[in-house]
Amino acid sequence: MKALVYDGPHQLRLTDLPEPVPSAGEVKLRVKACGICGSDVHGYTGESGRRTPGQVMGHEFAGEIRELGAGVSDWHVGDRVAVYNIVPGSDAHLFAPEMIQCSPGKKVLGVNTGKVGAFAEYICVPSANLARLNSDVSYATALLNEPLAVSYHALRHVPADAKTLVIVGGGTIGQCLARVARVMQNWDVYLLEPLSDKRELAASTGAKVLPSDLNELAKYLPHGADASIEAVGVESTLITSLRAIKPGGTLVVLGNLAKQVTLPYQEISSYEKKLVGSYGFSPSDFRTIIGWINDGRFDLSPLLSGSCDLAQTPTVFEELATGKRQAVKIVVEP
Ligand SMILES: [Zn+2]
Repeated sequence: MKALVYDGPHQLRLTDLPEPVPSAGEVKLRVKACGICGSDVHGYTGESGRRTPGQVMGHEFAGEIRELGAGVSDWHVGDRVAVYNIVPGSDAHLFAPEMIQCSPGKKVLGVNTGKVGAFAEYICVPSANLARLNSDVSYATALLNEPLAVSYHALRHVPADAKTLVIVGGGTIGQCLARVARVMQNWDVYLLEPLSDKRELAASTGAKVLPSDLNELAKYLPHGADASIEAVGVESTLITSLRAIKPGGTLVVLGNLAKQVTLPYQEISSYEKKLVGSYGFSPSDFRTIIGWINDGRFDLSPLLSGSCDLAQTPTVFEELATGKRQAVKIVVEP
């Protein structure tokens, strides 16, 4: 089968790999659509250190079942499915089901599973990780379950009594946060983003969109918001997110890029601000979001910026990495 192997910084190679065979409890999928995630691009450049040479990337995907492993009885060849991309490890019993994505022993399909990734024609995945797609849900729409579920998980960390919410960053996750927030609760949502086209895209969700400038935000929220979510992952936006909340407010730390940052410590302690980490999503978050996608609760087409085949993907990665191309979500159709 055709697959893309990551050889090291700025090197993606289209190659032939043996077609995988499903083990007991697994199914073999024909990958129909796999999104290029920001984390893939930062791994591709070597910047984040979160991708390993020799591996196949691709962790946001949907496809069609082509083969059943031994013991799989509740699925059929031809079923259209989305995939929860975290596979629990041997330490899973030490964690609550809602925390499985943070267990050190877990594997993330297409992130740290070697040659098992979805920038390939086929992938084998545990049948327990599958969710059925309605016939009217496109594969490209379905793969957006991943950033949407990441967003849903983060928004569940916002305190129940919060009324005002600031999202910092209008990238894929920021856009998904704004969309999921609207479905979840009647928050007064503000989204801070320096680029005008991303602000425009977020404005369609009903969020108030502002440049990344706290003076602008202060015109609406002079004392800050009840909660904020940082969706970039660098020092400057983390500080903006911290300053966007009122005393006693909650900052959900979601962006995941810088390894280390310096924060104004006294602004946390003196104002009793709360910082809460958020990472990935749990199986139940996944099922909630797939249910909402199947119900048509989101208009996701504005987030799909384009598509390409496996052969075109290395060029697309390079364009995304160098900023030659701006996109919310590019879909690879292997
Ligand atoms: Zn992702």
